[in-house]
Amino acid sequence: MANLFIPGPTDVHPEVLQAQSRPMIGHRSQACVDLIARTQPKLRTLFGTEQRVFLSTSSGTGLQEASVRNCVSEKLLVCVCGAFGERWFEVAQQNGIPAEKVTATWGQANTPEQVETIMKKKVFDAIAIVHNETSTGVENPIQAIASVARALNPEIIVLVDSVSAVGGVEIRVDDWGLDVVFTSSQKCLALPPGMAFAAVSDRALHKAESVHHRGWYFDFLLYEKFLKRNLTPTTPAISLLFALDAQLDRIFDEGLENRFMRHRDLAARTQAWAKEKFDLYADAGVRSKTVTAVKNTTGLRIAELNQYLATHNMVIANGYGNIKDITFRIGHMGELDLQSLETLIDLVDKFSSQNNQSLDHGSSQVHTEIR
Ligand SMILES: *Cc1c(COP(=O)(O)O)cnc(C)c1O
Repeated sequence: MANLFIPGPTDVHPEVLQAQSRPMIGHRSQACVDLIARTQPKLRTLFGTEQRVFLSTSSGTGLQEASVRNCVSEKLLVCVCGAFGERWFEVAQQNGIPAEKVTATWGQANTPEQVETIMKKKVFDAIAIVHNETSTGVENPIQAIASVARALNPEIIVLVDSVSAVGGVEIRVDDWGLDVVFTSSQKCLALPPGMAFAAVSDRALHKAESVHHRGWYFDFLLYEKFLKRNLTPTTPAISLLFALDAQLDRIFDEGLENRFMRHRDLAARTQAWAKEKFDLYADAGVRSKTVTAVKNTTGLRIAELNQYLATHNMVIANGYGNIKDITFRIGHMGELDLQSLETLIDLVDKFSSQNNQSLDHGSSQVHTEIR
């Protein structure tokens, strides 16, 4: 295992892959009701909520669209500090929902001060924040931002894209006053892609009651009606539900605190190495615990590096969005351990030194050799 050093999909444990191959059951059967009922308390613990966690057969972006469709009737304030914040603004626009951005310089985090300034001038009924900006490797201070927004407007709905954080980084939906927090199956939760999960507050559901044209597939009120009976409105990806049930058990066997600590350790090791050999894109103090954006200061050819890594069944990620060509990214989320990270680092160092040698001699021979 431990081959995918990309920010999703991540490696899936063989036991979890095995769980997916169980014989099919009907989605209205007692067995499916029991399955959904079994996962609910585990999901609630994971998100830090006593409210509810919706199960969606879509990728995470489906629930991003759902959150703006269900929870905004006036205007959405979108915190942007990278490509996934921009995505959120586009999703709002394409759904005809008025939205305004508050933007941080890429590599920096959005701040409570920024949000306070704009909220003192204008009225918003919802605010959207990316928990962990996967393009720049920045973690946003969502607790502080939510707290400032709530102080200025007690009714505001706080929407959080925690796709690359839930399961790798602590999140406390109820304590932090968050309303919709979604994640995808294929990131820190280390499940195959195909499902997404959203903790949704009573306040968000109450708001949805007053919002028109919520859509049908992602209507939160319909989800709630079915989830009360441990069902989903339409046929869920049942194989993935089997996998989810098994993986949540594995996650709690490891222990949430241990899992968060493992992600912190992986980030610390990756970032210490990257700072020494290259440079880091994100500012100190806001660096992500699940993905590192490395400034490609030595002009490493990432496609060639990945060809080399592929011979060891490993892969890292390109830069993303506007910073595609000046960065590369190392995902350290899911089931990865320090030992496989050390192996990856050794291989990148080896490739780098061969790369430098070939540059010194003005020849591309080394590249041909290691291919
Ligand atoms: C991966 C990612 C997404 C997109 O998730 P999908 O499951 O592909 O829809 C959205 N936001 C962030 C922060 C991500 O890392």
